[in-house]
Amino acid sequence: MCNGRRYAGIDMSIATTHASAQVARSASSESVVEMLRGRGLRMTPQRLAIVGEIMATKGHISPAAVARRVRDRVPGVNPSTIYRTLGLLEELGVLSHAHLESGAEYHRRAEAQHVHLTCSRCGAEDSLSMEEAERMKGLIVRHHGFQPDLTHFAISGLCAGCAGKA
Ligand SMILES: [Zn+2]
Ligand SMILES: [Zn+2]
Ligand SMILES: [Zn+2]
Repeated sequence: MCNGRRYAGIDMSIATTHASAQVARSASSESVVEMLRGRGLRMTPQRLAIVGEIMATKGHISPAAVARRVRDRVPGVNPSTIYRTLGLLEELGVLSHAHLESGAEYHRRAEAQHVHLTCSRCGAEDSLSMEEAERMKGLIVRHHGFQPDLTHFAISGLCAGCAGKA
C-alpha cells in the first residue's frame, strides 16, 4: 500500500507515536527534538539551535553554514557537537547528505530525491528530478545489473553558461 497521500496531511500527535523513519517524513523542529530526547540526548541550547536551523533551511546546508548560523544565536558552539548532531539526525532518517562540488551538504530526507548537477567552473548548482534521471538509471541497471543511487554524488560538469564560454 502506498502511504504517500496519508502522510501528506499527517497530524503531529499521530506522527510522534510512529517509528522514527516515518516521523521523519513529516518532521517538524518539535518532533525532531522529541526524537532526539527519545534517544536519550540532552537537549542543550546548542542542540536546540542546531535542530532549529536545519529544520528552517530549505534545500542544502553545509556543516560549516550550520556552524556559522548557530554561532550567531548561541555563542561558543563546538563544531564536533554540530557534526555529531547532523550524524544522529541522519541515523534517525531526518536528514541525508549528498556530495557536491563544495563538499558534503545536508538536506531533509524528504527533499533529497533529486540528482545534483554542479558546475566545476562557477559552482552553479542545478538538479534533475528522479523522473528525468529515470532513463540514465535504467541504462545502468540494464547493462550492469547495478542499482545506482544517483542522489548521493553530484554529477560534475559545466553549466550552460560556462559551456558556452568554453
Ligand atoms: Zn556520502
Ligand atoms: Zn539536494
Ligand atoms: Zn558554470
